[in-house]
Amino acid sequence: MRVVRSVAELRDFVGQARRAGCTIGLVPTMGALHAGHLSLITASTERGHAHVTIVSSFVNPRQFGDAGDLAAYPSTEAEDIEMAEEAGAQVLFVPTVDEVYPAGFSTEVRVSGDLTSRLEGAHRGAEHFHGVTTVVTKLLNMVQPDVAFFGAKDAQQALVVQRLVTDLNLPVEICVRPTVRETDGLAMSSRNVRLSPDERAQAVAIPTALSAAAALAFSGERDVATIVAAATAKLVDAGLTAEYLTVVDPDTLQDRTVLDGRSLLAIAVPVGPVRLIDNLALEPTAPASSRPHQTLVANGPRGASDRPEG
Ligand code: AMP
Repeated sequence: MRVVRSVAELRDFVGQARRAGCTIGLVPTMGALHAGHLSLITASTERGHAHVTIVSSFVNPRQFGDAGDLAAYPSTEAEDIEMAEEAGAQVLFVPTVDEVYPAGFSTEVRVSGDLTSRLEGAHRGAEHFHGVTTVVTKLLNMVQPDVAFFGAKDAQQALVVQRLVTDLNLPVEICVRPTVRETDGLAMSSRNVRLSPDERAQAVAIPTALSAAAALAFSGERDVATIVAAATAKLVDAGLTAEYLTVVDPDTLQDRTVLDGRSLLAIAVPVGPVRLIDNLALEPTAPASSRPHQTLVANGPRGASDRPEG
């Protein structure tokens, strides 16, 4: 596997791969790789039509409103190189901030409206997503992949990226993969390493809250306030307070009051020094009396399976 630090060298590699008839998969990350990232790399390498997988590792300052969060973001480059290589990537692209945003850089790519102003946009500021869409557009232009992989863990981000690609007619397929979780259900995140043992134990309340909501939806409960109250109670039991815990339409992010269609339960919770996000797709089941087979439906965006285990 090659570790590439300049855009010129990246373009050179991409050109050679293209001339050799290879298709290209891109996995954008901020480094500090974990099993969630590896699942995206594996999805690319095992997909068959991406002959070459390029992983980018770039902590994008433009998507951090909070300078403290940016400064504390973990960096594990030596381990990342080993992990990406082991998972089958051909290139790990690790540019500096100046390489991505050279002097004079003055362009921004924005998705406007509810997709970027709600949920994370409301709490981190829409600037967060403008930073994401700017860097993702740049990465897509640098690599010109056939397919790019994103995690359902960041469901709103995946939705925004899909909107960006559709609106700008970018010639790439966006593939959203299920959230990978620790055995106790906590969604894997590069930020989890910043939790103390006590905070890590507290954080399990997040997948527990999602499970409580899923169980109620499965039992036929349609009232969103009841579902949200049950999930909130699990957080309160653990001494946590959500920044938001809400059920929305997974395509528009509009609030739902009744579970009358595919829905996304989205949650953001500060735990100690870290802000964790998670989500779960909910679908209403038929009323118990008319239900032939009871199946818990909990799919990620675009049908990806995403059920917390804890
Ligand atoms: P990050 O490095 O956190 O910016 O994440 C890079 C990509 O990996 C994004 O598309 C994330 O949604 C995805 N990702 C992060 N955590 C997970 C996880 N636990 N499971 C699946 N994908 C993830």
